[in-house]
Amino acid sequence: MESQSIPVDQQRPHAVLFPFPLQGHIKPFMNLAKILSNRGFYVTFVSTEFVQKRLAESGGGLTQHDSITFETVPDGLPPQHGRTQNIPELFKSMEDNGHIHFHELMEKLQNLPNVPPVTFIVTDGLLSKTQDIANQYGVPRVAFWTTSACGFMAYFSMPLLINKGYLPLKDESCLTSEYLDEPRISCIPGMPQLRLRDLPSFCLVTDSSDIMFRNGISQTQGTLPAAALILNTFDELEGPVLEALSVHFPVYAIGPLLLSQSFHCNDKDGSFDELSMWKEESSCLTWLDTRKPSSVMYVCLGSLAVLSNEELLEFAWGLASSNQSFLWVVRTDIVHGESAILPKEFIEETKNRGMLVGWAPQIKVLSHPSVGGFLTHSGWNSTLESISAGVPMMCWPFFAEQQTNAKFVCEEWGIGMQVNKKVKREELAMLVRNLIKGEEGGEMRRKIGKLKETAKRAVQKGGSSNNNLDKLLSQIFLKSM
Ligand code: UDP
Repeated sequence: MESQSIPVDQQRPHAVLFPFPLQGHIKPFMNLAKILSNRGFYVTFVSTEFVQKRLAESGGGLTQHDSITFETVPDGLPPQHGRTQNIPELFKSMEDNGHIHFHELMEKLQNLPNVPPVTFIVTDGLLSKTQDIANQYGVPRVAFWTTSACGFMAYFSMPLLINKGYLPLKDESCLTSEYLDEPRISCIPGMPQLRLRDLPSFCLVTDSSDIMFRNGISQTQGTLPAAALILNTFDELEGPVLEALSVHFPVYAIGPLLLSQSFHCNDKDGSFDELSMWKEESSCLTWLDTRKPSSVMYVCLGSLAVLSNEELLEFAWGLASSNQSFLWVVRTDIVHGESAILPKEFIEETKNRGMLVGWAPQIKVLSHPSVGGFLTHSGWNSTLESISAGVPMMCWPFFAEQQTNAKFVCEEWGIGMQVNKKVKREELAMLVRNLIKGEEGGEMRRKIGKLKETAKRAVQKGGSSNNNLDKLLSQIFLKSM
C-alpha cells in the first residue's frame, strides 16, 4: 500500500473516498473529492494499484493536490489480468477482496500521526461490504452510485420484478425482439412503463445464479443500511424517480459533479477533468477547430463496450455514407479478441471529413463548438457530459443500465435518437444526417440546450444540487456528533 501524505490541520473533517476501479467511476469520484476539498475537507482518495498504474502510464494520473491524499489498495487480481475484458471476474474479486484491503487502509489511516480522524467514508455503491467497516469504525458510510437514478431504481427493483414473475427470464425464447419489446412493466415506482429491453442488461438472464444478476440485487439492497445514497444527477432531471427512492433512502442528487467542480473549484487548466486510463489524443481539438459550427458527429462508446467486427464495419460505412464530418474514438481494444482494423477504402473515402483517435479528451470535445451530435453507448457519465455541453445524442446502449439511460434520453427527455441494437449502415447514416442537419435534430439541440442551463443552475449557489450537498453534509455531521 502506497501513500503520499501532506501536513494538515488535525481539526479538519476527513472524508475517505473509494470508487469501484473502472474509468466511469473514478472520474465522478474525483470530481466529488475536489468539491469536498474545496469545502475544507481533508480527502483521502483510494484507487487500486492497477488503476493507479494505468493512470500513470496514460499521463492522466492521480497527482498531488492541495488537500487530497492518494492511497492504493490491491484489487486481488494478478497483474496480467485484463480487468475490463472480464468484468464479472473484476466484480467477484472486488467483492471478495475490496473490503478487506479497505479495512487495512482504515486501520492505517487511524494511526497516521499527521492525518485527521476519519469523519465519514464515501464508497462506491458496488462496494457495499464497506458498510461493515464503517460500522466497525463508527463512521457514517455514504453510498455513491455513479449510475443515473433511473438505472439505480431498475436494479433496486429486481426483487419486485422477480416477485411479479418478470425476472429471471423463463428461457432463451424470451430473448426475442418481440418479447423484449412489449411494454409491460408499470410497477416500478417513479418510472414510466418499461419494456423488458429497457431494463439493465444484467437483469435479462435465464439463470438467477448469474454473478451480475445476483450482484445487481445484493449491491443495491446493500445500500439500505448506508447513512445516505448520493447520485450524480439533478432533481430537475430525475425528480419522480428520486422521490420514489426517497421512500427507502436519504437520497441526495448532487450532480452533474463535472459542472459543480468546474463552477466551484475554478479548475482553470482542467487538469482533473480528463482523469483517464487511456492516453488522450488532444490533436483532435485542433482538427475540430477547422470544422464548421455544430457540424461534427462525435462517436464514442466509452471505456468498456466491445464490438463484433461486423458491427464495427456497419458503424464505419454508416458514418461514411452519412456524408457528415465525424470524430470517432476507436479504442485499441474495441473489437472482441482482436485489434480494430478499418478497411482502407473507408479511410480513403472519409480522409477529408473524418478523424479517428484511440481516446479523446471527451469533455473538451463535447464542449467544442464544432460538435453537433454525440453517438454514444449511453454510459451515465457520457450522457451527463452531453447534457452539460448541450449536445444531442444518438444512443446505442451496449450493456448494464445503459439501456435504461437510453430509454430516458430518447423517450422521456426527447434529447436523443435510438439506434437499433442490430446496427445497420443505412439507418445509422440517416440518423446521423437527421441529428446534425434535420429538423428533429434541431429540436433536440434546443431541448438539450435548455437542459444544460438547468443543470448549470442546479450546481450553483441556491441550486438544487448545491443545496442537496449542503443537506447531506449537515446530515452527516449530525450523525457523527
Ligand atoms: N472517455 C474519455 N475519452 C474517450 C472515451 C471515454 O474521456 O475517448 C470518458 C468519458 O468522458 C466518461 C468515461 O470515459 O467520463 C466513460 O464513462 P461512461 O459512464 O460514459 O461509460 P463506461 O466507460 O463506464 O461504459
